Amino acid sequence: MSLEFSQELDTSPIISPTFAPQDAGEIGLRPKLLSDYTGQEKAKGNLSVYIEAARLRNEPLDHTLLYGPPGLGKTTLAGVIANEMGVNIRITSGPAIEKPGDLAALLTNLNPGDILFIDEIHRLNRVVEEILYPAMEDFAIDIIVGKGPSANSIRLDLPKFTLVGATTRAGQLSAPLRDRFGVNLRLELYTPEELAKIVTRSATILGMEIHPDGAMEIASRSRGTPRIANRFLRRVRDFAQVMCGGVITKEAADLALQRLEVDELGLDNIDRRMLTAIIRNYGGGPVGLDTLAATIGEEAITLEDVYEPYLMQLGFLTRTPRGRCVTPLAYQHLHIPFDGQLQMEI
Ligand code: ADP
Repeated sequence: MSLEFSQELDTSPIISPTFAPQDAGEIGLRPKLLSDYTGQEKAKGNLSVYIEAARLRNEPLDHTLLYGPPGLGKTTLAGVIANEMGVNIRITSGPAIEKPGDLAALLTNLNPGDILFIDEIHRLNRVVEEILYPAMEDFAIDIIVGKGPSANSIRLDLPKFTLVGATTRAGQLSAPLRDRFGVNLRLELYTPEELAKIVTRSATILGMEIHPDGAMEIASRSRGTPRIANRFLRRVRDFAQVMCGGVITKEAADLALQRLEVDELGLDNIDRRMLTAIIRNYGGGPVGLDTLAATIGEEAITLEDVYEPYLMQLGFLTRTPRGRCVTPLAYQHLHIPFDGQLQMEI
């Protein structure tokens, strides 16, 4: 008899902003309406006008592109748009649509006004992407019926729908696809105050008591990202229940995050190893990404996608054409004396 294990071993770093098996519980924490969606005031302000105008005209919303780093609420916002418009949403992702037929099946099953959400839309393959152009522009697709010389192309009308695309890499979208989105919204990293609001709301949904300074402690260590904040909240809850009488206080949050080796700015041991290696082995930089990755035994792509954006946002790391450099601020944070000799020829 063979046994199947559906549960994958979750080896993603605790500070990774991408969805991991341990985040399964976050689905229930997703806000459903714009009024519950904290932060992103600029994107929300514009979106509420577009939604209101589309509703007044009784038309679907224009095709919308959401872009920004992972874990900031793109999927959540797509769901909010569907709720505000009172329509259904179908969720898929670029790599999941392998053949033109997969996309045709999705499109022909939509009802008028429905939203088709394609996550990681920059990963759509070219052939599929080309089906999307007439679908977005004319609400029609051309399908080939039959084979060989008797093959025929027939045009199929689609209901008027809204495509909501999400991407972490807007620069990788082809120009013809990018131009077909009427609305472009960029999501930004959240402030600690906004994240504290999100954490407090999530704690209430999970039936936990949380002190404002407990929420702030989690928020300020969450790298500007709600997914990380909600993940930390669940870990802090375990510590609070076992060691601190069940209430999420600043002390409970601090204890849990210290155990997870996340420091007061949200850096974990890989962030620290990365910065320290640049300082100790390469005189503060510049050092190429691949060399750095080999030095600390991590993958270059993980350093680039997971670690660098936040280190650059903190002003701890700069990218130059010759490689990565550590700034004096990072020396200060790591309590390493800065000798003023940042640049070193290697
Ligand atoms: P993305 O699609 O950008 O990777 P998600 O939409 O999946 O991110 O968001 C990750 C989690 O963070 C969601 O489950 C949700 O609970 C939370 N979240 C994201 N944005 C917000 C927000 N603005 N307000 C409250 N919670 C949020």
